[in-house]
Parts: sequence; C-alpha cells; structure tokens
Amino acid sequence: LPPLPKNSPVGHLGDNTFSRYAGVVRFEQLPLSKKTKDALRSSKFVSMTDIQRASLPHALCGRDVLGAAKTGSGKTLAFIIPVLEKLYRERWGPEDGVGSIIISPTRELAGQIFEVLNSVGKYHGFSAGLLIGGRKDVDTEKERVNELNILICTPGRLLQHMDETPNFDCSQMQVLVLDEADRILDSGFKKELNAIISQLPKRRQTMLFSATQTKSVQDLARLSLKDPEYLSVHEES
Ligand code: ADP
Ligand code: MG
Repeated sequence: LPPLPKNSPVGHLGDNTFSRYAGVVRFEQLPLSKKTKDALRSSKFVSMTDIQRASLPHALCGRDVLGAAKTGSGKTLAFIIPVLEKLYRERWGPEDGVGSIIISPTRELAGQIFEVLNSVGKYHGFSAGLLIGGRKDVDTEKERVNELNILICTPGRLLQHMDETPNFDCSQMQVLVLDEADRILDSGFKKELNAIISQLPKRRQTMLFSATQTKSVQDLARLSLKDPEYLSVHEES
C-alpha cells in the first residue's frame, strides 16, 4: 500500500493496517490513486457509507471480504474501487487480458455496475465489457472477450464463454466479485457458480457482497473465500 495519509487517525486496537483507518470517513483519506480520487470527486462521492468504511480498508489490502449490508447501502463502490486499485497497482494493460470478473444476478444490476465502473474508472485506461444473456452479438463478444480487462457478467453468460469461446483465458484474473450473492443463489445459479469458481485461478482476491447472510451464502463463502473479513453493517436501532 502507498504511505498512509499524514493526518489519518492511527488506531490503537492492534497492528493491522485497517485499524489505522478506523476514524477515516472520506474517500480522500484513503490511499487511492489520483485517477480514482479525481473520478470520485467529479461524481460527487465524498463521504463513505458504513459498508464502504468497514470494507474498503480490508479490500484495499487485498484481503477477501464478505460484506453484508442492505440494498442501497453503497456496496457497488465497496468493490469497484478495490478492483480499479488492484489493476492500477499491477499496471494492468490491454495485453494483460481479463484482470477482474464481477458476477451479478441480473442483467439490469450488471448494467448498473457497468455504469458505476464507467464513471469511477473513467480516468483509468482499462477496458470493460458487459457480458449478459439476451444479447444477439455473442459471436462478436467471443472475438473480443479476451481483450477486456474487467468483465461484468451474469453467471449463465460467463459460463457460456468459459464453455464455448475458444481461447477464453482468465488464468491471470486477480479479483473476483460476487455481488448480491444471496440473489444469485436464490435464482438457482448455484451449479453455475461452482462451475465458474472451479475454473478460476486459486490465487486471487475474492469479494462477496450480499444483502442477507443465509446458509447458502455461507456455503458459497466457504467455497470461494480465504480467511475472509466478515463485515456486516446493520441499521442503527
Ligand atoms: P447497494 O449495492 O448496496 O444496493 P448501491 O451501490 O447501488 O447500493 O448504491 C446505492 C446508491 O447510493 C446509489 O445511488 C449510489 O450512487 C449512492 N452512493 C453509494 N455510495 C455513496 C457515497 N459514498 N456517497 C453518496 N452516495 C453514494
Ligand atoms: Mg448492489
């Protein structure tokens, strides 16, 4: 990680890096690239939401994260920012291929993630693609999928590429995101998810976000995460 911001409060709870960020409330105070900070500022994102405050310090250190927080709590930025920062630090370029895969339960939600990625990632040079079912141009997609750095996909379409696209290569993938994991599992995608995860490199960072903590989400966490930080943000009562 880059040096800590000079005026960041240092926690006394332990020597873990994240405790130094215990009092940090603004994106500005995190050790992010200028490209990301400038884009956040121009999109008027200033203060972090609770789930962002809880998870970003861990995720930015490369840890696996299981984040649970209700709909509307800002989970998208909690994974988009670490994806961008990881590829930026790795100096990921066009010839490096697929560096991150983000899996979403529905086409609509995948489209929303794509929009957030396009705005917060606008000063980075990464290429991103939306791989969702129902699109007719799957053949064009097959030719171009290896040139993309960040894939935002529904499980069925991603698996279709894994099965059918010649030379589809995710062997260098660094960061996997499973967004709305509870909904992915509720929609009956458990088998697809298992098949996808089994074809991805074991050495990777995985972030799993969910609105609820069900038994099946915990099963998926066991399968996909290594020593995760469990971050659950509930409403104040
Ligand atoms: P979730 O995935 O948890 O349902 P989203 O990531 O879709 O939530 O975010 C919900 C809304 O909150 C979006 O309109 C988003 O632009 C806004 N939002 C997210 N993070 C912030 C923030 N730090 N400051 C202000 N608005 C935010
Ligand atoms: Mg969401």
